[in-house]
Amino acid sequence: MTYLTGLISFAKDMINKINKHKPINVIYVMGSGRSGSTLLSSMLGTQKNIISAGELYNYNNFFESADHLGRLCSCGEKLYECTFWTGVRRHICDKTGAELLDLKNIEPDIFSSNNYDVYNAIKDISKKNIIVDSSKRHYRLKLLLSSGLFRITIIHLIRDARAYSYSSLVTAREKGKSDMAFYMKLLEWQKKNIGIKAIYGSNPGYIQIRYEDLVADHIGQLSKVLRLCSETLDETRLFDPEASDSHEFSGNRRFITKGLDEIKLDTRYLENLSGAQWAVATSLVAPGLAMFGYPVIRRRAPV
Ligand SMILES: [Zn+2]
Repeated sequence: MTYLTGLISFAKDMINKINKHKPINVIYVMGSGRSGSTLLSSMLGTQKNIISAGELYNYNNFFESADHLGRLCSCGEKLYECTFWTGVRRHICDKTGAELLDLKNIEPDIFSSNNYDVYNAIKDISKKNIIVDSSKRHYRLKLLLSSGLFRITIIHLIRDARAYSYSSLVTAREKGKSDMAFYMKLLEWQKKNIGIKAIYGSNPGYIQIRYEDLVADHIGQLSKVLRLCSETLDETRLFDPEASDSHEFSGNRRFITKGLDEIKLDTRYLENLSGAQWAVATSLVAPGLAMFGYPVIRRRAPV
């Protein structure tokens, strides 16, 4: 009886929340860093109904440090002077009395309320109905899903483990460190991506996108994502640099200003990893490579 009463009260709470707060559409990017999420979010941000807002979990920190670091918004303006974010902060202030809300507070009610207010301000100021959040944080996605206030499309973005880890090898060598970082990154990649698939793979809003496929066939891959959000891809906007609506804290306009036709895969890992490194790397993450359809044999870099 107590259990039933509790359940009814929980259901009533959820219904009240949903009635009070219209669900907000969010495209949430999951995956490892350096896997092409800036490219993906820039592409999505060209679409009429979509605003790309970057790694929102860090909202507070970015604004608190904006003055000191002279950080730029991906629209090209200084973050603190960006018209869009100024509008968002004002909107939040009008509603809550504070310009910055802590989006990292994991107490469920505070998390839901703060995140709803920030997303809602972004939605109102941009006049778009889908927000791309590239936070890639598991705890954040879990809390967003359980709050019931958001309609979430989860893009699991994956890049070949050997390409992803190669950049760590380059950094380690530049710093005069051993190659160990390369192997650690490989294992980290496998654990993370298999974990994401296991946890979220059965969610109806889940879609898996490989970075390599996104570069080779952006129209096909983006069409799949948009279909999941009940939207249709407008290809003309994809190739129009003026169409982009991107206000990412740490993003850049590189992909958009260069034009999508010029985007090429970084294939240095194919040329620069030794035969032994390739073999060890491949055997270390063989289950993950098989799960996400990556080849065991090294292919020649496309010219
Ligand atoms: Zn901006």
